[in-house]
Amino acid sequence: MQAVGVFPNKRSVEIIDVPEDRVENDRDVKVRILDVGVCGTDREITSFEYGTPPRDSEFLIIGHEALGEVVEIGTAVSEFQPGDLVVPLVRHPCPHTWCGPCRMNRSDFCLSGDFIERGIKEEHGFMRRYVIEKPEFLVKVPPELREVAVLTEPLTIAEKAFGQVRQILERLPWFPEAERPQPLKVKGDSRALVAGAGPMGLLGAMRLKVAGYKTFVYSLEPPESINARLAVEAECEYISAQTCELITLERRIEHIDLVYEATGVSKIAFGLMKHLGDNGILILTGVPALGKPVPTDVDHIMRNLVLRNQLVFGTVNAGHADHLKAIESLGVFRQRWPRVLPSMITGRYPIDSVIDILRRKPAGIKHVVRPAE
Ligand SMILES: [Zn+2]
Ligand SMILES: [Zn+2]
Repeated sequence: MQAVGVFPNKRSVEIIDVPEDRVENDRDVKVRILDVGVCGTDREITSFEYGTPPRDSEFLIIGHEALGEVVEIGTAVSEFQPGDLVVPLVRHPCPHTWCGPCRMNRSDFCLSGDFIERGIKEEHGFMRRYVIEKPEFLVKVPPELREVAVLTEPLTIAEKAFGQVRQILERLPWFPEAERPQPLKVKGDSRALVAGAGPMGLLGAMRLKVAGYKTFVYSLEPPESINARLAVEAECEYISAQTCELITLERRIEHIDLVYEATGVSKIAFGLMKHLGDNGILILTGVPALGKPVPTDVDHIMRNLVLRNQLVFGTVNAGHADHLKAIESLGVFRQRWPRVLPSMITGRYPIDSVIDILRRKPAGIKHVVRPAE
């Protein structure tokens, strides 16, 4: 079967022919891969800046944002049936007995760094027709989400982040039990700013909107862009960086209780921090490339952190429960804004056009590859 292989040593990305995996163990689940989303991580891997092949392989099959259909199960699999739609987890636990998080199935908090990630780190990914997976690394998707469930993986990042936000909000004395998980302020509404209007930003914005925040999306795209239009359709206010400078944001939004950073640009992340309000939370999800040091007004930031009880946290990957929540949220988004999720998927392409999509970076929001076609 065809697969997309990255060869870091010879610095090439190729459509390769690999043997089709079969069900060999009683806990194996054979999954036909229907959709694979392409993202910035894939671009980094195919530019040889990131990613590691499995130990016994000179190439890495990429693809980590997947939706598949169960086609065959081992004799000891009771969790899934052929025909079930599933989203596979990207990260698998490290082998160390002392790594508490991995032993508790929370490899997203792994302490050793020896976890593996499908399509990214030491394990082949999903850009191929079939994959064998264990049931514990699969999450069931209802059939009505077939067209949009490829967006599950990027949404799990937001779900994990907001799970932590809920815990943080409990520090506020007026955060009432009955209102959870709704954010609440003594005066006025709770306001969130999402930086970036790509898939991560838009999904994060919808999640915040559903959680009850008045949500603003701040991004480079012009106000007439599809990204901006979808943000507005999801009842968010769109602010284009082309018409509003970072330093004037605070005036525009008045108070910012939460920032969800989804650009991976440190200048923007720490620039936004200056505008964070009292008891504010800054969530970092983007990974910046390492470059020259960026000048930042650290005194201002540190003063605010202390005097305004602010909190900054970074978050990566997500647990099994976050996947379940993401699938639930996709259903909520689809019901509330029926056109937004389908419109985020710019196009679906056969596997042999991946290399072109990765190189050309065509316009649009989420490009999806269909390996089973
Ligand atoms: Zn991704
Ligand atoms: Zn671990």
